[in-house]
Amino acid sequence: MSLKESLHTLSDRISLKDLVGESVALEAEPPIMRGRCPFHPDVSRALYVGARHFHCFSCGMGGDAVDWAALRMGVSRFEAAAQLRRALEGSS
Ligand SMILES: [Zn+2]
Repeated sequence: MSLKESLHTLSDRISLKDLVGESVALEAEPPIMRGRCPFHPDVSRALYVGARHFHCFSCGMGGDAVDWAALRMGVSRFEAAAQLRRALEGSS
């Protein structure tokens, strides 16, 4: 399995809303969730979280679950994917 395929599979197995919800209070605004972006001083809840992707309409930060973990941990996508995979395997 290539790295790209395994990252894609990993994104499928992770609930982005749960992952973001660990550090950001999210409010449901179907079909998305909304919260305060942790990547800039946000007072307007500019962070939109969907099933697979997040996007901040203020600072432009966005991506998938692996991007979120990488940004929050300050590591590469590769390292973030490894940590997420370990967390998934530890919980199953
Ligand atoms: Zn932002």
